[in-house]
Amino acid sequence: MAEVISGSELALQFKEKIAYKVQQLQRQGKPKPTLAVILVGNHPSSVSYVKGKDKACKEVGFYSRMIHLAQDICEEDLSEVIINLNNDDEVDGILVQMPLPKHLDPLRMISLINPNKDVDGLHPINVGKLYLGLKGFKPCTPLGIIELLKSIHVDFTGLKAVVVGRSYLVGNPLSKLLQDLNCTVTICHSATKNIKEICKTADILVVAIGKAQYVDASFVKEGAIVIDVGINKIDNHLVGDVCFEEVSKVCSYITPVPKGVGPMTIAMLLQNTLDSYYLAKGGIE
Ligand code: NAP
Repeated sequence: MAEVISGSELALQFKEKIAYKVQQLQRQGKPKPTLAVILVGNHPSSVSYVKGKDKACKEVGFYSRMIHLAQDICEEDLSEVIINLNNDDEVDGILVQMPLPKHLDPLRMISLINPNKDVDGLHPINVGKLYLGLKGFKPCTPLGIIELLKSIHVDFTGLKAVVVGRSYLVGNPLSKLLQDLNCTVTICHSATKNIKEICKTADILVVAIGKAQYVDASFVKEGAIVIDVGINKIDNHLVGDVCFEEVSKVCSYITPVPKGVGPMTIAMLLQNTLDSYYLAKGGIE
């Protein structure tokens, strides 16, 4: 039976360290870090993710500025909101909750964020820095997955990692971070042939496709490490992209859904916001 890697426990450790650093800043008479989150419209999952981020900010002692805009806001008005936040010295991190309504171009909007406040790591400058191996903000979900992997203290050098999903949010940046851990990485997507056979060669299998319980035990090599990124709803219950029941009988480590990757995504957002604060305002890193 696999060992379950608890994202909620690891996230708690990160949040405790961040909260301690916020207390230190306050003892030095410095302001608290501030995260601004822009939500456009009322997409139910987005509303719930934004609430989660707001709650997490408060837990560690950050100021959380939630900016809720109408579904039909035009690009010009949204641009103005972003630029005002760029120019606001009190704001350390800016996040635009995705997905945006169809009439708004997400890349154009993200590109307006000051890269030094881009705590979601999606600005083209930060994406470029990631691929060039330069210091910059990295996307929160891939960062959280790397921390989950590091928490099991395995030597990753030379391991074969298969990432299923090639989105700019998860699969693609994660594949670069896994290369940085010296893994040999294969990316699969919806046009990949023989996906099951490829997955079965993986020492580390990461599934980020958004298809409920798509990966069953027949995709998984005995003893593999399995990271389930997917968030899907079945009968009002959250499930991942992996059949936890049967895959956990084959692999050595597995992340659950919920309480796996999700809490670490939020913990990394807080960490990036604190890093952004230090970048702008100085302090103990
Ligand atoms: P996305 O942008 O929709 O990308 C999905 C990727 O999966 C695409 O690359 C797609 O291939 C690939 N794909 C879809 N069906 C496939 C199949 N049958 N076989 C192989 N590849 C397939 O999604 P995303 O933003 O990466 O998110 C993926 C999942 O992770 C979703 O469930 C999302 O809710 C979840 N998520 C969780 C967190 C968290 O914090 N836990 C954070 C972000 C996302 P093509 O490129 O060929 O279309």
